[in-house]
Amino acid sequence: MHMKLSPEQLKLRTAARELAEAEFAPKAAEVDRTEAYPFDNVTALKQAGFMGYTIPKEYGGRGGSFFEAALIIEEMARVCGATGRIAVEANMGAISAVMQYGTEKQKRLAAELVLAGDKPAICITEPNAGSAATEMTTRADKRGGTYVINGKKHWITGGGVSKLHLIFARVFDQSGVEQGIGGFIAVAGAPGLIVGKREPAMGLRGIPETEIIFRDLEIKEDMLVLPPRGLRRGFADLINAYNSQRVGAGTVALGIAQGAFEKAVAFVKEREQFGRPIAEFQGLQWMVADMAVAINAARLSLHQAALSADPFPDALLAAQAKIIASETANTVTNQALQLFGARGYSRDYPMERAVRDARMFTIAGGTAQVLRTLVASRVLDMKLPQTRGGYNKPTTSLRDAAE
Ligand SMILES: Cc1cc2nc3c(=O)[nH]c(=O)nc-3n(C[C@H](O)[C@H](O)[C@H](O)COP(=O)(O)OP(=O)(O)OC[C@H]3O[C@@H](n4cnc5c(N)ncnc54)[C@H](O)[C@@H]3O)c2cc1C
Repeated sequence: MHMKLSPEQLKLRTAARELAEAEFAPKAAEVDRTEAYPFDNVTALKQAGFMGYTIPKEYGGRGGSFFEAALIIEEMARVCGATGRIAVEANMGAISAVMQYGTEKQKRLAAELVLAGDKPAICITEPNAGSAATEMTTRADKRGGTYVINGKKHWITGGGVSKLHLIFARVFDQSGVEQGIGGFIAVAGAPGLIVGKREPAMGLRGIPETEIIFRDLEIKEDMLVLPPRGLRRGFADLINAYNSQRVGAGTVALGIAQGAFEKAVAFVKEREQFGRPIAEFQGLQWMVADMAVAINAARLSLHQAALSADPFPDALLAAQAKIIASETANTVTNQALQLFGARGYSRDYPMERAVRDARMFTIAGGTAQVLRTLVASRVLDMKLPQTRGGYNKPTTSLRDAAE
């Protein structure tokens, strides 16, 4: 793997850093405090070409790679986690699934919305179907040329601000026979697409996490995204596209860790106790060294996963990278807070925000435990059914879901 950045990539990363430092860093604490979606930041991202950067040029995007998007995302998250997440969802996940599997009409619609500043919402999780996502009960019943969607999702990032929704649902044909799991495109404002309660989230408070309820939501059949292997393998193919989002989410965790690390390094050189900078204490030097080692390993793993894209990042590499990055972010932000002493614990300083913002990445988009099961399944070359009695009868394993 060749990790040296090209002159163009270095230029891209510099441009992203300059934008983040000038526009987003000064507002990051305010975005957290007010819990208001940073529409101004979205405008700046749009002007820089970072919304829909990975959308192919023929649809108006920059045609950038997931690796380049990761360079951009890390810089955003380094100063503002919420803005980092917007940059992820405007380049990876739902938008990538539509741009890869969608019809011409679906691609044009998705590209137009994202390039105009939309951060799409991906609607998978339900109150009773979290890690066991394939147990979702949201259903899409075919009625002539329309699907009628009913069900409820929760913890949907961007609920109430996102326009494009990619909704995962069990699909039933006219006679009520189940066809598999499909992804449906709906645009905010459609009758029957209802934004429910906002979750009082711990971190990344600038982006709403909400319930999304479907009450006889009618979606024309031409808005069903049909992956190459059809509805029977629909979930697996859609989750394959989601591997890009896993790399993106891991990169936000990395950026948050990098930002906290840099601030902690500056602080220990400046803060004096016992008549000398606390950076002179070996116990702290080793903390700083461990933080640097972990961040570097996480970055390399994420970049390796991003570079594996064909068209999506390899599932094993994406899972490994997200585990390392999310756990590193939790450790590093906590260590950075520790190095700040009492100041780290104060809401007047950015460390407690970094800890809160980092916390979600071992949970959302596949928990660190579930991703370990995916890794183990590949390493052992075994299906690992998770249901009781799953080894004795045919069942859905995490591996089935991922392949
Ligand atoms: C901030 C945030 C944003 C999110 N955004 C979105 C979004 O935009 N769209 C969306 O669809 N969802 C979203 N989610 C939901 C997220 O994907 C789920 O929370 C996640 O998949 C876990 O599901 P759960 O919360 O129901 O936990 P559960 O599945 O109930 O898990 C509870 C615990 O049990 C463990 N566990 C469960 N099964 C196993 C197993 N087989 N082996 C070992 N351990 C297991 C888990 O690791 C976890 O520790 C978001 C969540 C958060 C926190």
